[in-house]
Amino acid sequence: VSRDFHPSNSIVDVAGFPVGGEQLAIMAGPCSVESYDQLYEVAIKVKAAGAQFLRGGAFKPRTSPYDFQGLGLEGLKILRDVADKTDLRVVTEVVDKDDIELVAEYADLLQVGARNMQNFQMLKALGRTQTPVLFKRGLSATISEWLNAAEYIAAGGNGNIIFCERGIRTYETYTRNTMDLNAVAALKELTHFPVIADPSHGTGRWQMVRPLARASVAVGADGLIIEVHCHPECALSDGDQSLVPRNFEQLMDEVRQIAPAV
Ligand code: PEP
Ligand code: MN
Repeated sequence: VSRDFHPSNSIVDVAGFPVGGEQLAIMAGPCSVESYDQLYEVAIKVKAAGAQFLRGGAFKPRTSPYDFQGLGLEGLKILRDVADKTDLRVVTEVVDKDDIELVAEYADLLQVGARNMQNFQMLKALGRTQTPVLFKRGLSATISEWLNAAEYIAAGGNGNIIFCERGIRTYETYTRNTMDLNAVAALKELTHFPVIADPSHGTGRWQMVRPLARASVAVGADGLIIEVHCHPECALSDGDQSLVPRNFEQLMDEVRQIAPAV
């Protein structure tokens, strides 16, 4: 994945959208798919605001086994259906090597979450496909560990990798994670693959998502993934860091002032 072997930027085509090209890739939607109506309601809003990708978890890697684990296959079907109706691409997480084929049937971009960054068996299996991978940074992973883990995908023959900085564990407890903007700048130097930013998980607080989205774009991110929910107070996961659609629209307006091609 090193720039040493490929000095120019690689563009990753995801269902016709060139991630890493001129235009920022904007992925938005709820943390979890909760129902058809919930997803449809938010999808039309994020599409109108300018997103090209609909995010939503069907298989959720929750810290506690007693928390909502996602709708599974039903969630994938809802995602595909809503995305097709609203002309969006689907990005969703895969948490098990045995689910890759199933999730890839419904998704355009497979997310590897922070908790699976070093699930090497899954990474090797993803390397044997050509499906684009959104590769999130591990909870406490160094930049070198993150790049090395990506090699498992690339070495297998899958050259469709998009990195995603999502904050790291530090001594700070006010925020859920510490959004490491250094890593965005470092990766832009170290790898030829696109790098996007997730200020929702990077901060854990909706009030901080817009400022850190602006900062991520200013520092050179190729796109953003943002949690948006029409009723965050009722969200089954990550309501505290979810923007309402009106705030997401404002985020888009602000980001356009930094990167006019959005
Ligand atoms: C998510 O995108 O909802 C998620 C679980 O992200 P992460 O793996 O970065 O915690
Ligand atoms: Mn989430």
